[in-house]
Amino acid sequence: MQQYLRPAFATHHPARTTMPKARLRPCAQPGCPELQYEPRCTEHRRANDRYRRQFGSKLSEPRDRARRKAAVDAHRAQHGDWCPGWGREAHASADLTADHIHEVTLGGDPHGELQVLCRGCNARKHATRQNRVR
Ligand SMILES: [Zn+2]
Ligand SMILES: [Zn+2]
Repeated sequence: MQQYLRPAFATHHPARTTMPKARLRPCAQPGCPELQYEPRCTEHRRANDRYRRQFGSKLSEPRDRARRKAAVDAHRAQHGDWCPGWGREAHASADLTADHIHEVTLGGDPHGELQVLCRGCNARKHATRQNRVR
C-alpha cells in the first residue's frame, strides 16, 4: 500500500481537468469562429504565445506602458512604497508594478482599470488566475 504524499509544489501543477461549469466561448482573436474553453483557440493561443515570447510586452502598447507607470506613480504618491498584497497581507515593497485587473490576454479590456502590486504579488496573481481560468 503506497501512501500518497502531496508534494510541496502541487499547487503549481493543478490537474488540467475540465471544470463542469466551463463554457465554450469564442476565440479572442477578432473574426475567428473557433469555440473553446480557453480564451483563444489552439491556433491563436499558439500564435499569441509565440508573439509574446518574441516581442514581449514592450512592443504591444507604449501608451499602455506610460499609463502603467502613471498608475504606479499615483499609487506611490498616495501610499509610498507599499504593496496592497495579493494572496498575502499588504507589505512594504519598492518594486511596484501596475497590471490590468482583468488581464488583456484573458479577454480583459486593454483600457481597463489597473492594479498596483509588487512584482512578486503580481506574478502570484498571474499564476493563480491562469490556474483558475483553465
Ligand atoms: Zn482563434
Ligand atoms: Zn506584494
